[in-house]
Amino acid sequence: MPDIKYIKGVGPAKAALFNNLEVQTVSDLLHYYPRAYQDRRQNAPLSDFKKIENIAMVATVLSTQTLPTRYLTIFKAFLQDDKKNIYEAVWFRKKTHRYDPFAAEKKDFKIAHQLWIIGKREDKNSFASRKITVDEYYPLNSPEAKYHTGCLTPLYSLTQGLTNKFFRNSVATALQKYLLEEEEVLPPSLLAKRKLLNIRQALPAIHFPSSVSELENARRRMVYEEFLLMTMAWGLKQKGAKAEVKEHSYTIKRTLLTPFKKSLGYHFTKAQARVINEIFEDMQKPKPMTRLLQGDVGSGKTVVAISAILLAIENGYQAAFMAPTEILASQHYITLQRYLKDLGVSVELLTSKTTKKEKDKILQNLKDGKIDIIIGTHSLIEDNVEFKNLRFIVVDEQHRFGVKQRAKLRSKAKHIDMLSMTATPIPRTFALAFYGNLDVSTIDELPPGRKPIKTLHVGEQEAFKTVRAEISKGRQAYIVYPLIDESDKLSLKAATQEFERLKTIMPEFKIAMIHGVMKSKEKQKIMEDFLAKKTDILVATPVIEVGIDVKNATVMVVQNAERFGLASLHQLRGRVGRGEENSTCLLITQNTSALSSERINTICQTCDGFKIGEKDLELRGPGEILGTRQSGELEFKAGDIVKDSQVLHWAVEDRNYLTQTDPNLTKAEHQPFKKRLLELYQKQWHLIDLG
Ligand code: ADP
Ligand code: MG
Repeated sequence: MPDIKYIKGVGPAKAALFNNLEVQTVSDLLHYYPRAYQDRRQNAPLSDFKKIENIAMVATVLSTQTLPTRYLTIFKAFLQDDKKNIYEAVWFRKKTHRYDPFAAEKKDFKIAHQLWIIGKREDKNSFASRKITVDEYYPLNSPEAKYHTGCLTPLYSLTQGLTNKFFRNSVATALQKYLLEEEEVLPPSLLAKRKLLNIRQALPAIHFPSSVSELENARRRMVYEEFLLMTMAWGLKQKGAKAEVKEHSYTIKRTLLTPFKKSLGYHFTKAQARVINEIFEDMQKPKPMTRLLQGDVGSGKTVVAISAILLAIENGYQAAFMAPTEILASQHYITLQRYLKDLGVSVELLTSKTTKKEKDKILQNLKDGKIDIIIGTHSLIEDNVEFKNLRFIVVDEQHRFGVKQRAKLRSKAKHIDMLSMTATPIPRTFALAFYGNLDVSTIDELPPGRKPIKTLHVGEQEAFKTVRAEISKGRQAYIVYPLIDESDKLSLKAATQEFERLKTIMPEFKIAMIHGVMKSKEKQKIMEDFLAKKTDILVATPVIEVGIDVKNATVMVVQNAERFGLASLHQLRGRVGRGEENSTCLLITQNTSALSSERINTICQTCDGFKIGEKDLELRGPGEILGTRQSGELEFKAGDIVKDSQVLHWAVEDRNYLTQTDPNLTKAEHQPFKKRLLELYQKQWHLIDLG
C-alpha cells in the first residue's frame, strides 16, 4: 500500500501529522479506527443524541445578513428545518479588507438552498433555543455530505493540525481508491465458521457505519483478527519454548532443603507441600519450566520459592529472585539471609540504591559464580548483569512486570526454569490466550491460625480510637498514605505533614515514618525498629504494600483509600493479620466516585484474592493486571479483552485448531495470515520462529 502522502489532499506536511499518529501508509489509515461516532442520521431518534445541545439536521436557507462592525464581520443565516422550526446561526470573523472572510459561506448559504448543518444550541438546556453555532455544514447532495452526515459519523483521535473533517475525507478517499488492495488475512474457513464480515465489508463499515448493528459486525471482525494474531503469536512462542531441551538436570539431594525446612519453625501447609512437589517435578523434566504460582496474600509463596531456589543451588547452579520494589527486594534479602546464612549459601542484593563500588563487586562475583542467589529489582535485567551458571529465576508479584522485562531476565542464560508468583491471578481465558498453556500451581490455603481481616469503611475519629485500643493491648499499627508515584514531591510533602499532625494527635505513642525516597539503610533501620517493637505506629507510603512482615501489627488505617486500586488495597491489608490475633483494616475516604465506592465495598466484603482479582479486572481493564499497561504490549486498536471476552474465546479456540491442524502455517489458505503474523510479531517480539 502506498505512503499516506499520496492520498489526494494529504501531501508531505499533513503526512507528517498522520505519522505522529503512527499512520504511515494508506493501509495504516484504513486500520486507524474511529474513537467514537456521532449520530448524524436524519431524523435520528432523539435519544441517540446524548445531549440536546447537539444538532444534526437538513435545513433550508431563508435569508442571510452580513453586519460589519469595527473589528469583526458578522454573518447570520436564518434556517428552517423540515418541521418548520426556524434557527439563527451566527458566525464572527476578523475583519479584513483584502478578502471577504465569508466568501465560502455566502456561496453555500443561498436562499432556498438546502444544507446539512452540524452544530450546537447556544443554550444547551433549552429545546426552545433557536440560536445555534455551526461546526460543520455540507450542501445537501454534495459528494462530501455522504461521509460527514446522514450516518454514524466517525470521530478520530486527532493530533494538532488535523481535523475530523479532514480525517474523514482522507479515509473516504482511501476507501474509494485502495480498498481493493487491502488483503484479507483471515482464512476463509474461519470467516465462515464465525460468520464474520470479510475485510472489504468490514473496513468501510467500521469507518462509516449505516447502523449500529453494522458497526458491531465490523468491529467484531476487526477484534477477532487482532485477538487471533496475538494469541497465535503467543501460542507459537510457547511451542518454541516447549521444544527446548535443558542441558542440565536436578537431583534432590536435600543437603540444603532439609536444614532449611527445620529452621522454619513451622510445617508447610498441605497446599505448600503440594506445589513444591509440582515445581520439583517440573524442574526435573527436560523442558524448561514456565510456571505461575498463585496464592493469596500471606499464603506463603516466599518459602515455596526459596525451596525451589535451594534445589537449584544444591545442584550447583545460581538463582535470581526479582521483585518489583526496592523495599520488597530488601525484605526478601533479609528473609533469605536469616534462613541461609548458616547453610553457607551466599546471597546478595542488587537494586538501584546499591552503591557503585558494591555493585561492581557484586557483578564480578556473579560472573565468577561466587554468589549463589541474587535478589533485586529491575536492576537485575540490566545488560551488565552476567552470570556464571544461572538456571533458576523467580519473579515475585509478576503482574508488576511487563512481559518484556520477564523475557529479558529469562534471556540471561539458556534453558532457564522460571517461577512467577502472584496474588492476583489471571482468569483462565487470559492465561490461555496470552501464555498458551501456562502451567499453574495454586496455594489455596492459608497457614493455620490466620483470621480473616475485618475491613471497615470509617471516619478518622473512629479509626484512631481503634488504633489507640490496639496499641494499649501491646499491638502495633500502620497508617498508610497514598503516594501515586514515589518521586512525587507534593504528595510526599502531604504525607510528611500528616506525619507531624499524627504526632500531635497521638503524642503518647512512638511514631515513625517510612517512604520510598529514603536511603535503603534508613528504611531497613526503621523496619527493624518496628519489628523489634521500638515504635508503635509506622506511617507509610505504599512502599509497604508488599513485603513487610510484622506479626504484632494488628491494625492498619488507610487514608484516602479511594485513591488505591483494588489489588493494592488487598495487598496492603495483607500486611496485618499475619499473627494469631484478630486484625482490622480501616479505610478512610475523602471524595468517592461511584467507581471507588465499588472498590471500597468490594474490599470490605471479601478477603478472597481470587474474587478481588476478578472484580479488579472488571473495574480497571486488563492492561494493568496482565502487567502490560506501561509497556503497551496488549494494546489493541479495536479490541478490549474484557468486554470482548466472547471473541477472545473464539480466537483461542481457533488458535488451538490452527496449531493442531497446520502448526507451521504452511497451507496456502494460511499464507496471508502468516505474513501478517510475522510482520506484526516476529521483529518486535522475537516471538515467532516458523521454520
Ligand atoms: P505471600 O504469599 O503473600 O508472599 P509470604 O511468603 O510473605 O506470603 O508469607 C507470609 C507469612 O506467612 C510469612 O511470615 C511466612 O513466614 C509465614 N508462613 C509461610 N508459610 C507458613 C506456614 N506453613 N505456617 C506458618 N506460617 C507460614
Ligand atoms: Mg509475597
